[in-house]
Amino acid sequence: MAQQSIPTGQIERFETEFNGDLTRVDDADYDDARSVWNGMIDKRPSLIARCRGVGDVISAVTFARDHDLLVAVRGGGHNVAGTAVCDDGLVIDLSEMRGVWVDPDTRTARVQAGATWADVDHETQTFGLATPGGVVSETGVAGLTLGGGIGHLRCKHGLTCDNLASANLVTADGEYLTASEDENPDLFWGLRGGGGNFGVVTGFEFDLHPVGPDVAICLVFYSGDRMDEVLKAYRDYVADAPPEVSLLTLSGVLPDEELFPADAVHESKIAIAGCYAGSVADGERELAPLREITEPIADFSGPMPYVELQQLFDEDYPDGMRYYWKSLYLDGLPESAVDRIAYWSDVAPSPLSTVDVWQLGGAIARVGVEDSAFAGRHAPFLLGVEANWERPADDDANVEWVRDCLEDMRQFSDGSVYLNFPGFLEEGDEMMRTTFGPTYERLVALKDEYDPTNLFSLNQNVTPSESARADGGGCHE
Ligand SMILES: Cc1cc2nc3c(=O)[nH]c(=O)nc-3n(C[C@H](O)[C@H](O)[C@H](O)COP(=O)(O)OP(=O)(O)OC[C@H]3O[C@@H](n4cnc5c(N)ncnc54)[C@H](O)[C@@H]3O)c2cc1C
Repeated sequence: MAQQSIPTGQIERFETEFNGDLTRVDDADYDDARSVWNGMIDKRPSLIARCRGVGDVISAVTFARDHDLLVAVRGGGHNVAGTAVCDDGLVIDLSEMRGVWVDPDTRTARVQAGATWADVDHETQTFGLATPGGVVSETGVAGLTLGGGIGHLRCKHGLTCDNLASANLVTADGEYLTASEDENPDLFWGLRGGGGNFGVVTGFEFDLHPVGPDVAICLVFYSGDRMDEVLKAYRDYVADAPPEVSLLTLSGVLPDEELFPADAVHESKIAIAGCYAGSVADGERELAPLREITEPIADFSGPMPYVELQQLFDEDYPDGMRYYWKSLYLDGLPESAVDRIAYWSDVAPSPLSTVDVWQLGGAIARVGVEDSAFAGRHAPFLLGVEANWERPADDDANVEWVRDCLEDMRQFSDGSVYLNFPGFLEEGDEMMRTTFGPTYERLVALKDEYDPTNLFSLNQNVTPSESARADGGGCHE
């Protein structure tokens, strides 16, 4: 992609057809507008187009294409790799498009693509309904949904993308399309797990389910000395758990003085966290064995408003701190894997970092592996390795810890990864082929049809074929 500065006259012309705000390098709010959640990311775009509606998105896509600009698309700005911003180029920023409209009769919600999960939960819970989101409410709906979406309701109601009924998007040629099972079904298939490769989504329609207002949650902490025992008990428990139960473990120091007795604050711990998506009484009964594996250090399990559960981890991930996360789908959790997880959480350079094991299966595995682009349905567990730290001087040690841990844990995996925990965008095509397997060619065919020149390249990228790029990309059918 050629990258020149954009002539002022061209920006002025663009401004006449753009209803939102355009932020330039020397505007007072430029630094605010370019900053994203991960403090490791420091990109300086030439122009940030804060869209107010579909018309603005079409204008911005057309402007980028006509001027051969590098394009970043921003939903909630929470991608770990910072793909919502770019150096030079144009950011198409949807963060002001945050409307959510619930229809309680059809149990559906229409959600604009700049909304966060807090926006969605607030509206849907007004009617005692919910769609599966992520476990941090400040995260954007758009990036999370397009990459899959693994949250507290996953084993009962599936991934976020499994609850997508339709999406509206602007393609690289500026066309506004609907994708659903009935309209453009191939594109709909690709949007459910194929990331931001095929256009700028302006709105989503989600199916909703009765949830809450209270749910039974599990949040129990054990000493790191008992990590092996707790991880094995967790593995055995989830093997027979009802689909209402969705859990993860987090292993690390987690030095929160308000949560733990003084002698445990700086020591290694393992937490089991999650909920039961059903009646509180059933949930308390079902989750009870997880609270009795051994003597807990602290136990906050019990009934909790669903909205509160959705925000429970928010303050652990403040804006602007430094983050580097990666993932691997695990084939299982044999004793040797449990030992390695205990080892890697012990040697983390930052006390804020964790090694997480997400339970999968249930409703996620009931969708056929070829029924959506999402690549992780086969796996019983997802390993998340999260380096979270404060000082730039500690960058190298933390990034290295994640990479070394991942390399070691590959022995328990087919090498496929969850697209939404991407570290930096350092692995490219090979990682995409490993993750998607035979499905990758279908994604390439879609990319050739909808974005043959790779206008949308700042993502876990599906590279268009040589022949599509050589053609320069005519309009799709
Ligand atoms: C604190 C935290 C907690 C998280 N917890 C979870 C979790 O529980 N479950 C889970 O599954 N994931 C989780 N994630 C990962 C999350 O799914 C990704 O970071 C996701 O990319 C965030 O979406 P966003 O819209 O905020 O991202 P952005 O940074 O705004 O966008 C990321 C990418 O998504 C694409 N994109 C964004 N908006 C659009 C659009 N409108 N149209 C087309 N493409 C678009 C673009 O490629 C963009 O580069 C978490 C991340 C963080 C930071």
